[in-house]
Amino acid sequence: LFVDTPLAAGRTLPLPPPAGHYLTRVMRLREGDGVRLFDDRTGEWRAVIAAVGKREVVVRAEALLKPRETVPDLWLCAAPLKAGRIDWLAEKACELGVARLVPTVTRRTVVGNLKLDRLRAHMVEAAEQCERTALPELAEPVSLATLLEGWPEDRKLIFCDEEGGEPIAQALPGIAAPAAILIGPEGGFDDAERAAVRALPQCVRVSLGPRILRADTAAAAAISVWQAMSGD
Ligand code: SAM
Repeated sequence: LFVDTPLAAGRTLPLPPPAGHYLTRVMRLREGDGVRLFDDRTGEWRAVIAAVGKREVVVRAEALLKPRETVPDLWLCAAPLKAGRIDWLAEKACELGVARLVPTVTRRTVVGNLKLDRLRAHMVEAAEQCERTALPELAEPVSLATLLEGWPEDRKLIFCDEEGGEPIAQALPGIAAPAAILIGPEGGFDDAERAAVRALPQCVRVSLGPRILRADTAAAAAISVWQAMSGD
């Protein structure tokens, strides 16, 4: 379980109500039972349930099981999508090991549904599920133009372009981290945006195959190929 408090041996802390409810009502754990916690700072800890009260469950950290992992420095820059689909995308990006999710606003992006708190909750749940000890960073939404303006010199931009590019499996072997995958919105990039992305010296335009994938599918496919090829 994720706790938003730095852990240390012997430290006791109350769990947020949903986590306490999950442990005692769903998992049926009792005082003295063991749990595993991670804090996104130090790593994963063995802990015990120290007290079960009416209002809160208190846990005590006992020993560090594994230090916080280092994930490959891969960003996912993706245009916000409809609520259910961007939630799915955030969950899969976390499971597949992305270090940072950057909601990237394009001309055809509908941003009304973007709720960062909800996205973060999905990433926390995914991290718990896949036993990741480092949460992906969730960046503030940024316009594509601003993103490109401040693009770091040493970071390759893997531009997934449904209009064609080098097959991703051929392009990736030459691209080491730090890198980023760029995925467009449901309506795709417009011509000016496509030209601006292509003009970036760090841009590598890739294709994910002959079919036009949904944006969330395209993101998961690109990260999966990256992960399979980098081994991380
Ligand atoms: N209308 C669909 C939707 O609702 O998601 C498809 C949107 S597709 C235009 C969204 C983005 O997915 C594109 O901008 C591109 O980044 C990526 N994409 C989809 N298919 C792709 C492909 N075959 N190769 C490379 N990128 C692709």
